[in-house]
Amino acid sequence: MTKIQNYINGKFSPPIKDRWLDNYCPANGEVYGQIPNSTQADIDNAVKAAKTAFASWSQTTLDERSRILIKISELIEVNLDRFAEAESKDNGKPISLAKTVDIPRAASNFRFFGNAITQFASESHESVGQNAINYTLRQPIGVVGCISPWNLPLYLFTWKIAPALAAGNCVIAKPSEVTPMTAYLLGEILNEAGLPKGVLNIVHGTGTSTGKAMVEHPDIKAISFTGGTKTGAEIAKIAAPMFKKLSLELGGKNPNIIFADCNYTEMLETTVRSSFANQGQICLCGSRIFVEASIYEKFKTDFINKVKVLKVGHPSNSDTNIGALVSKEHLEKVLDYINISKSENGNILCGGEKVTVTDYENGYYLEPTVIEITTNNCRINQEEVFGPVVTIMPFKSDDEALQMANSVKYGLSATLWTNDLSRTMRMTNQFEVGIVWVNTWMLRDLRTPFGGIKASGMGREGGFEALRFFTEAKNVCIKY
Ligand code: NAD
Repeated sequence: MTKIQNYINGKFSPPIKDRWLDNYCPANGEVYGQIPNSTQADIDNAVKAAKTAFASWSQTTLDERSRILIKISELIEVNLDRFAEAESKDNGKPISLAKTVDIPRAASNFRFFGNAITQFASESHESVGQNAINYTLRQPIGVVGCISPWNLPLYLFTWKIAPALAAGNCVIAKPSEVTPMTAYLLGEILNEAGLPKGVLNIVHGTGTSTGKAMVEHPDIKAISFTGGTKTGAEIAKIAAPMFKKLSLELGGKNPNIIFADCNYTEMLETTVRSSFANQGQICLCGSRIFVEASIYEKFKTDFINKVKVLKVGHPSNSDTNIGALVSKEHLEKVLDYINISKSENGNILCGGEKVTVTDYENGYYLEPTVIEITTNNCRINQEEVFGPVVTIMPFKSDDEALQMANSVKYGLSATLWTNDLSRTMRMTNQFEVGIVWVNTWMLRDLRTPFGGIKASGMGREGGFEALRFFTEAKNVCIKY
C-alpha cells in the first residue's frame, strides 16, 4: 500500500486533518494506496510556503531558473521507467504509451519552458513625436494554482507547472485525485534538482475539498485549470468576482472530417489512433467521424477491420493497444452513453461491451466501439463521452461537413483529411475551434497556442502564450 503525502515547503507531510482517499488500480479494480484529501488548512500552509519562497524565486536569474527546470527534465528522463510504470498502473493506460508519450512529454515540458524563458522578451515602443519611450515589464503574478485532470496525468500537470515556474511564480499544484501517483513521484526529484523549498507545492485531494479551497484562496492569484466544462464553470463562478486570472482548458467533441481525395492509408491509420489512443481519453480525440459519401462504405469496412484487431488487455503487456478505463464510474458513464446511443437508433458496428481480461476480471475494460449514426443531433454526438467510442456518418458536401463540425457546443479541435488546397483554406478558416490538424493528428510543437473556444474553454497554453498568462504586463512610459 503506497501512502502518498503532500509535498509542501520542500518536504513530504500528511494532511493536517488526517483525511484519506483510496487510490484504485484500474487494471484490476483493487485499492493499492491512499492519498490525502487535503483541506483549506493544507492549502493555507502551502500558500504560506509559496509566498515566502516567492521573494527570492521571482528574483532568480533566468539562467538559474532555466538550469533547474532542465535538471528536473533530466531527472524525469533518468527515472522514465519508474514514472511510466507508475502512470500506467495508476491510470490504466498501456505501458507503451506511458513510456513513449506521457513521461517523455512531461520531461519535454520542463526542458521546453526552461529554454523558452531565456528567449521570452518584453516589448518597448518609442512614442515618436511625443518624446517618450514605453517599455513593458512582464512580472510574475505571485502564487498561482494549477489543477489538472486524470487522462494525461504527469503530462498535463507539468504542462502548467513548468511555464508557471519559468515565469518566476510559486505554485500550488493539485493533480487529479484519480491519478495522483506521478505527481507524488515528481515531488521526490524536486529537491535533487535544486528547486528551492516552497517554490512548488503539490497538494492532493478531491476537487470539492482541495481544488475548491485553492480557487477560493485570496492569495492564489491565478488558476490554470484543465478538466471538464462543468468544473470549469464552477471555478469561473468563484474566481471571476475575485478577478483572478483564469486559463480554462475544457471538454471537447472533436470532428474528424474525411474526404475521398485524402491519402487513404495514412488517414486510416491515424484515424484509428485519433479515435482510440489512451482508450479515447484524450481531449483531442476525434470522436465524431464524418466521411465523404463516395468512400463511406469502403471506409466503414476498412476501419472496422482495423478496430476489431486492437488488443484490449492489461496495461503492462507490451502488446496491449487498449488498456483499462480510468475508473469504475467512468466505465459506467461510457457504457451509459453506448446505451443512450442504442436508444437513439445508433447502430453498433463493433464493440459496445465490457471486456473480461483473464486474471484481472475486476478491471475496467471496454471494447473499442464504433457506432453508425444518421444525424449529428443525437446525444452521443453532442455530449462528451471521453472513452473508446466514436461515431461515423456520411456527408455529401463541404458545407454539410462544416455545418455538422460546428454544430456542437464545444470548440477544441478539428481534423481534416483532404489534398484540396482551397477546401483546406476555406474549411480551416471556418472551423469553430482553437486547433486544426490537416492530414495529421496530435503532431505537437510546444511553441504553438493550445486551447479551445466555446464550451472548450478560454485562454491558450503553449509557448509564449503560457508565459504571458503566467505574467502580468506592466507598461512604463518615460518622457524625456
Ligand atoms: P474534472 O473537471 O472532474 O477534474 C479535473 C480536476 O479538477 C481534478 O484535479 C479535480 O479534482 C479538480 N476539480 C473538480 N472539481 C473542482 C472544483 N469544484 N474546484 C476546483 N477543482 C476541481 O475533469 P476530469 O474528469 O479529471 O478530466 C476529464 C475532462 O478533462 C474531460 O472533460 C476532458 O475533455 C478534459 N480535458 C481537457 C483538456 C484540454 O486541454 N482542453 C485536456 C485534457 C482533459
